[in-house]
This record gives sequence, structure tokens and C-alpha cells, in this order.
Amino acid sequence: MTTNARLYRAPPDLLAGRNVVVTGAGDGIGKAAALCFAAHGATVVLLGRAQQKLEASYDAIVTAGGPEPIIQVLDLAHATEEHYATLATQIEEQLGCLHGLLHNAALLGPRKPLDQYPLRDWRELMAVNVEAGFMLTRALLPAMRAAPAASVVFTSSGVGRRGKAFWGAYAVSKFAVEGLCQVFADELGSTSAVRVNCINPGATNTSMRRAAYPAETPTRNPEPAGIMPSYLFLMGDASRDVNGQSLDAQGG
Ligand code: NAP
Repeated sequence: MTTNARLYRAPPDLLAGRNVVVTGAGDGIGKAAALCFAAHGATVVLLGRAQQKLEASYDAIVTAGGPEPIIQVLDLAHATEEHYATLATQIEEQLGCLHGLLHNAALLGPRKPLDQYPLRDWRELMAVNVEAGFMLTRALLPAMRAAPAASVVFTSSGVGRRGKAFWGAYAVSKFAVEGLCQVFADELGSTSAVRVNCINPGATNTSMRRAAYPAETPTRNPEPAGIMPSYLFLMGDASRDVNGQSLDAQGG
């Protein structure tokens, strides 16, 4: 099934008439996903902390002829329950219902042994990588329940399945993401048309990857746009019966 996802060829109108939220939509994989979903017909809510980067994603979508996206600036490190509630109300008012939610935003954090890991960094990273996934999914559930079907996609990592030295809070947060995905999937699978899955992008040429592996030749890894088939598979109807799974966007 994961092989199919990696080889998935989406019809051009896969997401026509669908509304999809992408977090971290101003850079890296999130930007590529936002542009790709819009190119397949989706109205994308571009969520991120940097207005300028989101505007660049907005301009790229409009220039390419995609549906006009919506910009939502939110710093997930400091978002409160009220921020999430306001966001949900605005999305419901603007779009009515929501068909997709890609939790992509994340921090890498310091690369240090846990016994030297600063608590302040730990807390900020957990707010962005874990708490935001919980709060945003919860806040947007009514809008997703209002759609005929909806897909929530969490972003995992290889170090969220096998812990590795010096990956600190990042690795721990990705284990938590896998857990969040499984619990939401189990709860929603039998009570709603909302499916919840994880995707591990694999090594991809973004600023996060370059920061994590400064000695690596960046071009040995695919560009974000090259790993989109699995993202389209999970966001579109081809994955209608897939729930609680953790897929790899790359690999044999
Ligand atoms: P990236 O280029 O660093 O992008 C991360 C995105 O998250 C950026 O748009 C960033 O916004 C946003 N973000 C960070 N803190 C935020 C905050 N407080 N509030 C709102 N948005 C915030 O990294 P990437 O490689 O594309 O990563 C995308 C996802 O893939 C992450 O979940 C990452 O863990 C996962 N992943 C990546 C790789 C890889 O090799 N690239 C491998 C495995 C997993 P700014 O642009 O404002 O910083």
C-alpha cells in the first residue's frame, strides 16, 4: 500500500472544490504541498508564522492559476486555546467545511544530548511539533465533520520510530506525533468520515535537513516537490479507506 502511495499519479482535479489547511506553508515541504494541493484544485489555507513567506506562497499559487488561497498567520509556539478557536471560527465562516489538514510545521531544535537539553527549547519544540497537532485537529474537527469526508495528515520522521542520540526533543516529539495520529485515528475511524494518518517525508532538501546535516551535499536529496505523490494520495479519495497508518514518502 505504501508503494502505491509513492507511485500515486493524481488526476489534475483530485482536490477540486476541497478546502485544505497546511501548516508551515511558507517554506520547505509545506510550501511545496500547498502549491501542489492548489495545483490539483484545492483552496488552501496557508498557515505559518511569517507573513512574508506565506505571501510568497500565495503569489505562487495565484500566478499558477490556482484557487485563491487564504493566509492565516499564527505562531504555533505561542498559540493559545483562544487562537485555535478563533482560527476555527474564521475557517468555518470563510469556507464552511474542511476536507484536509496537513500538520507539517515543526522545529528541529538543538542537536544535543538529552542531559544537556535546555527546558526552554524542549517546551517551544513540543508546542510546535506536538501541542499544535492536538489543538489544531481538535479545533478544526467540527469543520472536518461538516465535510462528506476529511483527511488529517501528521508529519513524522525516521527518528519518531527509532530514537537516535542527539536528536533530543525532536525525536521524542515525532514519537508523540505517531501516537497522536494513532489515537485520533482509532477514535475517529468508527465515529466519523475523518481519517488520520502519518507521513514520513524522508531525507528532503529543505532548510531543516541542511541544518541537521550541514556536511551533506544538499542535492543528494530530492526537492520537496519531488515527494508529493504520497501527500496527494493521503489527501485525496484514493486513501479513503486508509486510517491510522504511517507511510513513507520515499524509499524502496
Ligand atoms: P522547514 O523548511 O524548516 O519548514 C518547517 C516549517 O515549519 C516552516 O514553514 C516554518 O516556518 C514552520 N514553523 C516552524 N516553527 C513554527 C511556528 N512556531 N509556528 C508556525 N510555523 C512554524 O522544514 P521541512 O524539512 O520542510 O519540514 C517539514 C516537515 O517534515 C516537518 O514536520 C519535519 O519535521 C518533517 N521532516 C522533514 C525531513 C527532511 O528531510 N526535510 C525529514 C523528516 C521529517 P518558518 O518558515 O517561519 O520558519
